[in-house]
Amino acid sequence: MEKKELVYEGKAKKIFYTDHENYYWVEYKDDATAFNGEKRGTIVGKGELNNRISSIFFTLLAEQGIENHFVKLLSPTEQLVRKVRIIPIEVVIRNLAAGSLAKRLGLEEGTPLRHPVIEFYYKDDELGDPMINSSHISVLQLATQEQLEEMKTISLRVNQILTRYLEKREVLLVDFKLEYGITPDAKLLLADEISPDTCRFWDANSKEKLDKDRFRRDLGNVEEAYQEILKRLGGEVHV
Ligand code: UDP
Repeated sequence: MEKKELVYEGKAKKIFYTDHENYYWVEYKDDATAFNGEKRGTIVGKGELNNRISSIFFTLLAEQGIENHFVKLLSPTEQLVRKVRIIPIEVVIRNLAAGSLAKRLGLEEGTPLRHPVIEFYYKDDELGDPMINSSHISVLQLATQEQLEEMKTISLRVNQILTRYLEKREVLLVDFKLEYGITPDAKLLLADEISPDTCRFWDANSKEKLDKDRFRRDLGNVEEAYQEILKRLGGEVHV
């Protein structure tokens, strides 16, 4: 497989064409942004850590019957994925109140939710990723109602699989964000990344934050937290 021209550069990743029309070459970057790009920085080694962490989660999910875009690792910071057109919806699943939900509903961070909460956000930087519902999704024609139902079902299943897997590693899955894409043959596929950039992970005992909140809230030891997650997943940590 050969790396070709850049397709798109996002905040945390670069996507390249390959010499095969059904695959993209993804490069994970060390750049970090928060609050819709207002806060910028670099987390040393993040590209490699998130590339490895994401590949572990996607491999686990595939083994558990959740098809996704991940194909294989190409280098410490790069992976091969199936080509999809990303649906501009962020699906957020929450098990404990944190972040924007804690604020919006006046709940203390860490309050357990009686059942997982599912939310949708419109991926649009200019609008600041507003929260939307199925009616908005229909009006904007972002996805069909069938696709939306499928995204909900898969996301809740992903939550069960990841929650159980992380529990055994003494990590609480507080909340996370998923993205989906459409393949050239019109199949819905879980895509993007699953990493400390897109999930809230707390140590199950100390409740210490092991995710991007350390960067967002200037808590320090950001790299160490990402390394700790890779270590708990059984991956090697290269520093
Ligand atoms: N999230 C994300 N990308 C975004 C917004 C949120 O990956 O653009 C993740 C975030 O890391 C957290 C979950 O989605 O795990 C819920 O985020 P929340 O709505 O609480 O927003 P935040 O407090 O991160 O602004």
